[in-house]
Amino acid sequence: MRIVLHVDMDAFFAAVEERDKLRLRGRPIVVGSDPKAGKGRGVVSTANYAARKYGIHSALPITKAWQLSQQAKKAGKPEVVFMGVDMAKYARVSANIMQYLESLVTSGEWQGGAFEQASVDEAYLEFPISNFQLSNNDEMWQWAAEKAGEIKAHIKHEFGLTASIGVGPNKLIAKIASDRQKPDGLTVVPEEAVQDFLDPLPVRVIPGIGPKAEAQLMSLGVKRVGELRGMPKEKLLAEFGKHGEGMYRQARGISDSVVAPGGPAKSIGLHRTFGKDTLDSVVLMSELKDMAAEIGADVARDGRLYRTVVLTVRFSNFKTQTRSHTLEAPDKDVKTLETEGLKLLMPFLDSRENPGRQKIRLIGLRVEKFVAHGNEEKGSMKKEKGNAQQGLF
Ligand SMILES: [Mg+2]
Repeated sequence: MRIVLHVDMDAFFAAVEERDKLRLRGRPIVVGSDPKAGKGRGVVSTANYAARKYGIHSALPITKAWQLSQQAKKAGKPEVVFMGVDMAKYARVSANIMQYLESLVTSGEWQGGAFEQASVDEAYLEFPISNFQLSNNDEMWQWAAEKAGEIKAHIKHEFGLTASIGVGPNKLIAKIASDRQKPDGLTVVPEEAVQDFLDPLPVRVIPGIGPKAEAQLMSLGVKRVGELRGMPKEKLLAEFGKHGEGMYRQARGISDSVVAPGGPAKSIGLHRTFGKDTLDSVVLMSELKDMAAEIGADVARDGRLYRTVVLTVRFSNFKTQTRSHTLEAPDKDVKTLETEGLKLLMPFLDSRENPGRQKIRLIGLRVEKFVAHGNEEKGSMKKEKGNAQQGLF
């Protein structure tokens, strides 16, 4: 028997901005690209709950968010406050919250439990239930709910932010549960309640079931987890191959994934799909610069130096090419990342790498081959020319 918590900050980037600026309290806020009065490019990174009431959500094109804000204004509602992404700030706030969450299992009454940061604003905790004398199951889940409530209260009091927490017998259930009552939610799913909890939910709540698998399931008449559970295993394997095995288990709420720090990231990067395929060098270069700035903030938070810059380009025909460059000496500078990224991008804008003048659908940029700060290798690195790879991502 295990007790796992999934802690997920609510509308994290927007909530940090709202917290820090009194004049923004209660107003609809969108953190993302500059809307440039409806002419901007790029997408919404995070919308707070007031902005979500206008139909604005993450990954929505920023021009669309602008239009929705203008419509709201015409209807006499408050206009959206648009703000740029201040990744360095969110990373600082995140580090403090994560430090608090980790401290819960490294000292005090939950010592010996486990902590795993899952993203900038999400983490898993596992309580070491063997530390406690709990007379029965009900008492144990009640106790877990109380503890989760205390964590939420501490986050609110100490950081001025709200989190939603899901509690369950494993990571899968905790993760699905944390999303059920956002924002400021607490959803506890005891082991014996797992099936009743899952069955009525749409299949999309299961991690790994995306729009494609959802459509395929829909064509088989399967909309909800309960219906998925009713599918014979052989049928799932025939339809989805190896992935079908996972679905069979997930529909039953089974997950053996352990709560464990994943170790340092092997790469740090981003990719962006353009609203419209483009070969406009001004647009592509400015997008790449934005991405370099965002990745640079993550690299600064990570603290290590990178040695290799990797660019991925996907054309409108979905052909995907990857090019990389290894630096002579490890670096952490945003400017280096920007320069190297642009150098890798240039050949795709003309006949060198793009003889057919195909428009570009997506660009990805990442850094990898990290070395610890202060551990830089002496002497010069061998320069490597990246190999072309296709169909990656
Ligand atoms: Mg979140």
